[in-house]
Amino acid sequence: MTAASPVMPTYAPQPVAFDRGDGAWLYDTDGRRYLDLLAGIAVNTLGHNHPRLVAAIADQASKIIHTSNLFEIPLRRQLAQRLVDLSGMTNVFFCNSGLEANEAAIKIARKYGHDRGIDLPEIVVYEKAFHGRSLATLSATGNDKVQKGFEPLVPGFVRVPLNDIDALNRIAAERPNVVAVFLEAIQGEGGIQPARTDYLRQVRALCDARGWLMMVDEVQCGTGRTGKWFAHQWAGIRPDVMPLAKGVSSGIPVGAVVAHGAAAEVFKPGNHGTTFGGNPLAMRAGLVTIDVMEEDGLLDHATAMGEVLMGGMRRELAGVPGVREVRGTGLMIGIELDRPCGEVVGLALKAGLVLNVTADSVVRLLPPLILSREQAELAVATLAPILRDVASRPVAQT
Ligand SMILES: *Cc1c(COP(=O)(O)O)cnc(C)c1O
Repeated sequence: MTAASPVMPTYAPQPVAFDRGDGAWLYDTDGRRYLDLLAGIAVNTLGHNHPRLVAAIADQASKIIHTSNLFEIPLRRQLAQRLVDLSGMTNVFFCNSGLEANEAAIKIARKYGHDRGIDLPEIVVYEKAFHGRSLATLSATGNDKVQKGFEPLVPGFVRVPLNDIDALNRIAAERPNVVAVFLEAIQGEGGIQPARTDYLRQVRALCDARGWLMMVDEVQCGTGRTGKWFAHQWAGIRPDVMPLAKGVSSGIPVGAVVAHGAAAEVFKPGNHGTTFGGNPLAMRAGLVTIDVMEEDGLLDHATAMGEVLMGGMRRELAGVPGVREVRGTGLMIGIELDRPCGEVVGLALKAGLVLNVTADSVVRLLPPLILSREQAELAVATLAPILRDVASRPVAQT
């Protein structure tokens, strides 16, 4: 074991450190090469060391990195415009992370309620949801492990199961203080569980009928990962509030709350703020990320590579008794086993693959959107035997 670390033990890291990357390849400190099927948890949209991203960041760093939101930031305006155009929404608030974007969304919903005379506004949230680890966002999260030890939770959330419109209709009938519905288009930490497109449309219709805000957390499933700019676009709907983060700037921390219509007019001067959010360096990285995604056709590429990965895994794992399902959209893929499978992370690492396991039993693939066909095929050829082996053993009795 290594000596005691001065870093707080909030994570139990794998005993590997990467000090260099190239596209979807990672190199550890011993020079060993790994195929990156995680992208820093859906962050490195353009992979590692992308020449356009590196050049843009270096150029921006040589000009100016940070000023303050007390001044105009032209790059912030530009990135906001890009996000508005891609989403069909109207206004953006920039911050630095997913939980911050969600925290801002929660504040928008509460103030939206207060502005309408609802003093104790409630927000509908979901079982197995993950929205972050600040007090409000962990309270919105549907996972006891995230909440335990941090009570009292922030009040004002009501929880329902995903894809159950009857449950939401009951809330509508019983709870007059509801102001918003807050859900991931595809639950990420919850195990790659999609909100069905018909469910998203039903939620949209109910929100319209009730004057509720529809708030779709696209922190993980947004920014092109599923083959559309934003995963809810597969359902042909538009939310009122959309938190983004993770992949927006390919690794430079950026969060954003994109809002539409009434929701976009809730925050007035003094209602919210951030020191770092919207800084020129972060905005420049976001702009070049979107440029490259458009110019290189990375949305269609994500769809095509998702088919290679998912099709390959389905073919190779067909009939393996311990494999419950291979599911996903684009490059957001989950392989659910019938047992806890945390050991797959270490086995894959030994075989040269970086991936992760979420919700105990779901192997999660979130590769960079620049993953090549050869790399996708290599991933299938390497991972399938590992999963076949793990899933074919008798389940340990507990
Ligand atoms: C990762 C994640 C968050 C939290 O983002 P942080 O940047 O870690 O705060 C929130 N919502 C979803 C859906 C996520 O996947």
